[in-house]
Order: sequence, then C-alpha cells, then structure tokens
Amino acid sequence: MIGIMGAMSLAACNQKEQKQEEPFDYTVEQFADLQLLRYKVHGFDELPLKQKELVYYLSEAALQGRDILFDQNGKYNLIIRKMLETVYTDYAGDRADSNFVNMETYLKRVWFSNGIHHHYAADKFIPGFTPEFFKKALESVDASKLPLAEGETLEELCREVFPVIFDSTVMPKRINQADGEDLVLTSAANYYEGVTQKEAEDFYASMKNPNDTMPVMFGLNSRLVKVDGKVKEKVWKSGGLYGEAIDKIIYWLKKAEGVAENEAQKAVISKLIQFYQDGDLKTFDEYAILWVKDLDSRVDFVNGFTESYGDPLGMKASWESIVNFKDLVSTKRTETISANAQWFEDHSPVDKRFKKEEVKGVSAKVITAAILAGDLYPATAIGINLPNSNWIRSVHGSKSVTIGNLTDAYNKAAHGNGFSDEFVYSEVEKGWLEKYGDLTGDLHTDLHECLGHGSGQLLPGVDPDALKAYGSTIEEARADLFGLYYLPDKKMRKLGLTPDDDAYKAEYYSYMMNGLMTQLVRIELGNNVEEAHMRNRQLIAKWAFEKGTADKVVELVKKDGKTYVKVNDYEKLRGLFGELLGEIQRIKSEGDFEAARQLVESYAVKVDADLHQEVLARYEKLHLAPYKGFVNPVYKAETDAEGRITNVTVSYTEGYAEQMLRYSKDYANLPYRNE
Ligand code: ZN
Repeated sequence: MIGIMGAMSLAACNQKEQKQEEPFDYTVEQFADLQLLRYKVHGFDELPLKQKELVYYLSEAALQGRDILFDQNGKYNLIIRKMLETVYTDYAGDRADSNFVNMETYLKRVWFSNGIHHHYAADKFIPGFTPEFFKKALESVDASKLPLAEGETLEELCREVFPVIFDSTVMPKRINQADGEDLVLTSAANYYEGVTQKEAEDFYASMKNPNDTMPVMFGLNSRLVKVDGKVKEKVWKSGGLYGEAIDKIIYWLKKAEGVAENEAQKAVISKLIQFYQDGDLKTFDEYAILWVKDLDSRVDFVNGFTESYGDPLGMKASWESIVNFKDLVSTKRTETISANAQWFEDHSPVDKRFKKEEVKGVSAKVITAAILAGDLYPATAIGINLPNSNWIRSVHGSKSVTIGNLTDAYNKAAHGNGFSDEFVYSEVEKGWLEKYGDLTGDLHTDLHECLGHGSGQLLPGVDPDALKAYGSTIEEARADLFGLYYLPDKKMRKLGLTPDDDAYKAEYYSYMMNGLMTQLVRIELGNNVEEAHMRNRQLIAKWAFEKGTADKVVELVKKDGKTYVKVNDYEKLRGLFGELLGEIQRIKSEGDFEAARQLVESYAVKVDADLHQEVLARYEKLHLAPYKGFVNPVYKAETDAEGRITNVTVSYTEGYAEQMLRYSKDYANLPYRNE
C-alpha cells in the first residue's frame, strides 16, 4: 500500500532549519498539470563500495521493467510511445508549429503516465495536435523506426491506432469505477482481455477456499483472457507474458545477489528470482515473508508486481520498483512509533473485537530513495507499507517506510510558491503551518504507514476482498484516520515526537483544507473524484464537516468573495475523526460492502461544482502544477582493467526528455504487442 502526498504544496511554507548544503536545483521543468523535480540521494557517496555496487545492480534491475507497466496500462501504449518518440526525434519539419509543440507535450504526458491515460485521474489525454499532422509526420520519418508489425503498412497501423489516440470514446478510462457498470469491460487497463466482470469474479471466486488461512493473492501476476471460450490466466514470468523484460530483471538481480550484505538479504533476492522464474504465487508469499523479516540490511528494495490500484477489481498488480537505503538519523523517529505500536492499538477508538490482541513486527524506517521505476516513476509515493497479503501481515508483520529525501525535495521545490497565501484562512493557521507543517506532515505519514495499515483485524471468515472496488478507499481512510486521531495525543508529546499542544493543528488544518477544497485542483471541472487516496481524503473531510455542522466544528467561510476552510474546534474535530475511525474499522473488519458503498458514494466521489470552479480559478493564477514527479539520478560504475567495479558515482544533470529517451532506447525489453 502506498501513501501519496496530499497537500504537498502546503508543506512549502515550512522554513526548515537550513543546513549548510551545496546549492541544488530541485526543479526540472513544468508542462500541462505536471512538474518534474529532482531528488538528492543524500549519503550515497558515503556508502561502502559493496553497498554502492548493490544499489547499482538493483537500480538496473529496476529500470529493466519499465515497458511492463506501459503495457499493463493499455495494450497500445508501447506502440503509441514509439510512434511519438520517432516523430519527436526525427521530424524534419517545423518544430515550432503548434501541432508539433502540442505533440511534444502529449508525449511528455505519456512518458509521465506510462501510457495515454492520466496517471492519477485515469482518463484519456486529449491530444492538442491533429490526426492529419501526425499522419504526415509519420510518413516523413524512416519507416524502419516505426512499430510496424510483420508485413503491416503505415496506413494499417494508423487505422488501428489513431482511434485510440484521437477518438475520445475509445478506451476513455484506464480504470473505471462507476457504480453499476461492467468495470472490467469499461476499463482500458490491459489486465483482462475478452472477459466480463462477472466472468472474472466467478473465475477467482471459484479459486478461493474460505478455510485457507494462508491464501495467496489470486490473480496478482497475470492477465485474464478468454481462449476458445475458456477463461484462463496468462502469467507474467520468465518464459511467459513479459518474459523478455523479466529475464533482464533476473540478470541484474543475480548480480545483486552476489554482493548482498548478508545471508538474509541474499535469500530475499534469490527467492524473488525464483518467483520471476516460476510465477507461482506461493513462491511470492515465501519471498514476501523473507523480505519482511530482513530488517538489518542497510540497502533494501521493492521489485515486482505490487500494488493493485490500477485494476478495477483490485487484484492484478502493476509492476514497480524502488531501491533505497536506510536514513539512520531520521529512522529514530519511526522506531519510537513502532516500538509503541501495541499501546496505540490498545488505545484506539475502535471496538475491541476489531483490534489486534498482539501487534506483530511493525517495523518502520525512513529511507533515502536511490532509484524509482515502474509505477513509482516519475510520480511516486512518499510512504510504502508492504507486503499487501493480509495473512502475511497479521502473522509476520509488515515493513513500513517513509521516503525522506523525496518529501524533502517536495518541500524545497515548493518553498514560497504562494499556495498558502492564497488558500489558508488567516495568519494564525499560516503560522502553525510554517512552524509545524513539515514535522506533523511527516508524523502523519509515519503513523499512517507504521501503525494505520497494520492496525485492526478482520473477523474470522471475512473475505479480505469483500469491499471490492471500495476496498482501497476504505483502507486508506482507515490508515489516515489512525494517524489523525493520534497526532494530538498526549502520548505523542510524552514520546517526544510533538513539541507542544498546538503542533497537530497544522496537520488538522491542512488536511481539512485539502480534503474539502484544495485537492480539487487535481481534477478537471465536471469530473468526479476517482483516485483512492483522494477519495479517502474527501471522505474524511466531508464526513467530519457534515457531522460537525451543528457545533460549527468546521466551516466554509467567505472573505472578499473567496472561500476558506475555518476550523473552530480542534478537539471536537479529533472526536469526529475517532468516531469515523471506529466505523471504518467496523466496515473493514466485518466486510460490510453496503456500508462501504454508502460512505464512499455519499462523501468521497461527488464534487461541488461552484467551489470546484472557484478553487481552479484561484489556483490557475499561481501557475503551479498540481502533480509532481521525479527525474532519476544517473549512476555510473567505474571499473578497473579486469572489469571489477571500483566506484559508483551519482549525478543529477540529466533532463526529463533526455532520460525518457535513454530509457526507451536502453530498456526497450518488450515487443510492441504482448499477447
Ligand atoms: Zn496508505
């Protein structure tokens, strides 16, 4: 499960103590609704050579999987990317022409989203260039550089692919979550081919054994297809679907295995290799258990089919990778939180039946990201909590991380951008945000990841997928509420995590402002809230707003014709968060689908059109991009005469298009069509 930054621009205004640091340009470029940043890999140069080597090999293993995600996000993505890139690099016509300029923006968005649908909102991009222009441009470049199938003409290719690019009714959404529709047939994601939602649900329902206490995550690593009228899985593994890319990943994992820090880490890597080879989900669980128990290694990584947010049924996992190493200083903070996990579980405002009697192995650390790939690139998470298997989490615990250097980059890049001056109610709230915003934002992420996701339990016999399409939103709300509830707690002060009784107000204010208003900057006028984390935040904020109306706990007030969020009673707001946490935990523990549906559909989805319009207009004047992502650093291995690595250096000068084109050239591991 991943934590995506909420009010990221807000953290802007926190003036952290500036350490003596070399100047570093955190911003790269901005287009459409996106801004590209750079992150610094603090401490990489100080790692011992063997760990640098390990990071280097794991980074290569990470980058090799890039094409998998493109294909998972839509069956034409690799073809379209290649067509666009060829015109982008080879077009000899007028590059200042608006058609070309708009095609360039479109390509940059496709790179960012790993496909033709928005990475967050999931709807298809509207191209700002004409089919006529694109056709002519394609005709003008070397045909051998185009993704033509054997014997296929450009004419035929265009006839097949142009509707996918230009016709807004073709594959309009990567993932459709509209209540009542066939979510499988209406989603463009490439996880199902020729099967209906009912067929997919029946297929997996028949695999489940309610008495199995250690069920694998069915469907995680395959595409579900219909062949000769029969529904079956095409497994992603060496020799199977995506095998070409997976073999490259294995090649680099083997190198990493050779320089592992210790036996436990070596076992993790070799089990992952085995899983990529056999595609057996039992092997995957064995790997996940080894991974969750490897706590002593400095370097760590995720590489594989991990999160299922991109599948309308929440089973199929998109491919992603992150390589990282422990930030030893900041980890002290999360260790304090996890050391007290049992206390937090025992005191949560949740019915006793839904609590864990014994919280197991919640490990937490702050990490420094070294490379991002797949579904974590360029847009990324700032916190990760894995594995996702429910039974493994309850028996073996989970590993929870917050990614310090990425949060740091967001904060530094957003400093002084005018956002809080525009949206925050008064100087009082601005003062809190400046003083505490960074810290309480980090603490909320820590509580969400280290404790929130790991808290509570399902009642015996409850299907972990019972909440279906509402599962992700409910799960994120549960973790967020756990953090919100505890931020003001005396225990936090006792543990030395918060400095005083006001600090939490910074996070409460920004959470309510974000959930009620400012996160709407990420949505186009007329659209609903779709993404699970955004739904969760609106659910919590709107629910608390509505339930507190009689007591005026939170108000929307007008000043000079502008709407502001005003929190009048922070203690009562905490009470409301606690109450909702109790209910959300009940829904999760009992698998109460109908209650989940009611809650999500009533509070999380719909948008007030007038407020939305106002927020968008105010935001537009600031010329900020609502979504951010990262360009990766570049690692270079220096070798001696025998080819042994003598040092690994890191540099930060590569541009966005430059990096994407290099990746498309060096890591083009899949055919254009994967069937
Ligand atoms: Zn989460």
